[in-house]
Amino acid sequence: MAIPLKRPFKTALRVAEAIEDILVRVETDAGLTGLGEAGPTAVITGDTKQSIQGAIEDFIAPALIGRELEDFDGLMEALHCALLKNHSAKAAVDMALYDLLAQSYGVPLYQWLGGRKKRVITDITISLNETPEMVADSLDALCDSFSILKIKVGKDGLDDAKRVAEIRKAIGPGAELRVDANQGWTPKESVRNIRAMEDMGCDIALVEQPVPAHDLAGLRFVTASVLTPILADESIFSLLDAEEVIRTRAADCINIKLMKTGGIYQALKICGLAESHGVACMMGCMLESRLSVSAAAHLAAAKGIISMADLDGPSLCAADPYEGGPVFRGPDIFMPEEPGIGIKLKPDLSFKEASF
Ligand code: MG
Repeated sequence: MAIPLKRPFKTALRVAEAIEDILVRVETDAGLTGLGEAGPTAVITGDTKQSIQGAIEDFIAPALIGRELEDFDGLMEALHCALLKNHSAKAAVDMALYDLLAQSYGVPLYQWLGGRKKRVITDITISLNETPEMVADSLDALCDSFSILKIKVGKDGLDDAKRVAEIRKAIGPGAELRVDANQGWTPKESVRNIRAMEDMGCDIALVEQPVPAHDLAGLRFVTASVLTPILADESIFSLLDAEEVIRTRAADCINIKLMKTGGIYQALKICGLAESHGVACMMGCMLESRLSVSAAAHLAAAKGIISMADLDGPSLCAADPYEGGPVFRGPDIFMPEEPGIGIKLKPDLSFKEASF
């Protein structure tokens, strides 16, 4: 399914003009249908449209068909043991199964997960462009009622601090600024940039993934060398990754994304670990449309340790093929009363037309 974006999405890693996601449908004998979605963000997860489709059709579906929803742990074990890696494919099927599970209990997914929050507040991404364009985009975001901006940097080395300072100067002190370098700095560039932002009074809430994902020693060096909180994103996919980052104090907080964890089941394990260490989590998303971002919103509404949300995918889309479910209005995500994730395809779209 291809959904055009309102504007190109630009980070240190890529430029995207549309969301081309894989839609998954899981049906039960009792007539329930669960929906899931996977975003092929190959530069981060290694997952492509074709690899997601192949993983689901050739490995995951044969491992799950015929199993009972009541044996949910068994289903999840079969899903995660069906093949190695392929987290995005697993995430799409995982959320469709959670959709079914909550539907079978007749409650919204966030309530089934133990949550009562009716609203989640998200930031909005400011794409990496020339500084005047980023300043204009930031001012536009404030006009659209967003009060938390995620500024993409990481392409210009030491000029990034000046770029962020210009944005802070233009928007004034009110809004929260998060900075995401998407692995674009070396450890020393990170320390130089972050200290410069601190010295210029940029008042940055956190800096996300300053250094390459594999460089945990570099990440730890940065975290230990600056006052600004450091958030690990691309460095943490699994529970074991999260354990390593927390144990070595390589970062102050964790960005959980369903496309990295392989879905809600594994994400809950990271939440449990983070809770026991008092490590704050952000619920993030890749470039995904409203279906999978809604699954992430249900998790964010359910878990107190998820104190930050970066769930702006639907706000960046120029079209929405779905109806029902969480309502995305500016920075607010209002949780639904419908059972499950709450989302259905619009009736004029057949599943076949919408997929692949
Ligand atoms: Mg990030």
